[in-house]
Amino acid sequence: MKIAIIGAGLAGLSCALTLEKYGYTADIFERRKEVGFQYDIAELMTPILHAPINDSVKFFSETHDIHLKPSSNVQKVHVHSENETAYIEGNIGFINMRGEYKNSYEKQLAQQLNHSKVHYDSHVTYEDISKECTHVILATGDPQDTQQIQPFHIAFPSTFAGAIVKGDFVRNEVHTWFNSHLAPKGMGYLLPHSETHATLVIVYPQYEEDWLTRRNEYWEAMVKDASRTLKQEIIIEKEFMIDDYIVGKCNYSRIGNTFIVGNCFGGITPFLGFGQTGAMLSGIYAAQDICGLGDYETLCKPLYKDYEDSLVLRKAIEKLSDKQLDLVIKSLQNSMVKKIVAQPDMSVLKGISHLLKPFISK
Ligand SMILES: Cc1cc2nc3c(=O)[nH]c(=O)nc-3n(C[C@H](O)[C@H](O)[C@H](O)COP(=O)(O)OP(=O)(O)OC[C@H]3O[C@@H](n4cnc5c(N)ncnc54)[C@H](O)[C@@H]3O)c2cc1C
Repeated sequence: MKIAIIGAGLAGLSCALTLEKYGYTADIFERRKEVGFQYDIAELMTPILHAPINDSVKFFSETHDIHLKPSSNVQKVHVHSENETAYIEGNIGFINMRGEYKNSYEKQLAQQLNHSKVHYDSHVTYEDISKECTHVILATGDPQDTQQIQPFHIAFPSTFAGAIVKGDFVRNEVHTWFNSHLAPKGMGYLLPHSETHATLVIVYPQYEEDWLTRRNEYWEAMVKDASRTLKQEIIIEKEFMIDDYIVGKCNYSRIGNTFIVGNCFGGITPFLGFGQTGAMLSGIYAAQDICGLGDYETLCKPLYKDYEDSLVLRKAIEKLSDKQLDLVIKSLQNSMVKKIVAQPDMSVLKGISHLLKPFISK
């Protein structure tokens, strides 16, 4: 077998590691000079909406022999709406670095490779590579590449504004903001990398043109609000903006011997935009199929289900006004509700749906 993986990100490298585990090697083609994501930021890997995983580090290590060292585990999430604040405690997930950071997840994955070769600075095209190889894994992280070979159902394009910021942070505590003045139908979040640095981001769907032109205004409001909420001056070190980041899913996860994985597949759960777990799982599943250990399309079914459930939740939360969001956050201050939402058996989806129900049906 001659296996090519296009893209050395989370999905492509998880695929290569799984192939190696079962005695196969792949050629990995990466267009950059090193592995990974083009943004140097912190991300959150959470099992929310990926039942039954409740500890992703343990799960990938014990089930798939892929070993990850996050930068911290999250034990508290502060949730802020326009006028209310609440928090949820529990094992919420892990913060990990991406991109050029020396401990980024993609670098950790690449270090675990034994025989597979990563060809850097590579500009192979899908067309050329598919002629030469028996199997191709499309793992470029870009649904536009999927659209070259099949329709991709776009749920929404989203826009980001963010920065690495300096301040005084509690490593295990994440902040989230649901407030239309900061991110219409979206959210803001702060993920600490350390006691002194964090990633601060707003992300929202590009439903209206005006929302894109007002991005700087929203972003400035976010930085101001974060400074106010955290009672300190948040200092911006390195900013980034992203447009047209597509959330959606492909029609077919496999076409012949081409496997579509990660963002190309549609691994992002639309509710809060988590894509890392889906990226790694889809890469692993593609490799398992190639090694004769399962059928990729069947293995991917739970990922499609996670996607659909998460989309329903997003549509529900998008209907809420700032006043209703205040009421939802207020109800989170109730310890019983908090318990349901953060329960460790990971029926978080049910917990959140339960929380939103009274507001949606009005
Ligand atoms: C700002 C931002 C914040 C996010 N935050 C979170 C979060 O907190 N939690 C979470 O779970 N998810 C988050 N996500 C989503 C998550 O990053 C992605 O879902 C995940 O990285 C997808 O993995 P992938 O392997 O499909 O793609 P990537 O990890 O992006 O890897 C794709 C690789 O392919 C390479 N490549 C691209 N084109 C080519 C080509 N033509 N030839 C060769 N190589 C190519 C790229 O250079 C890259 O190395 C966030 C996304 C963004 C943009």
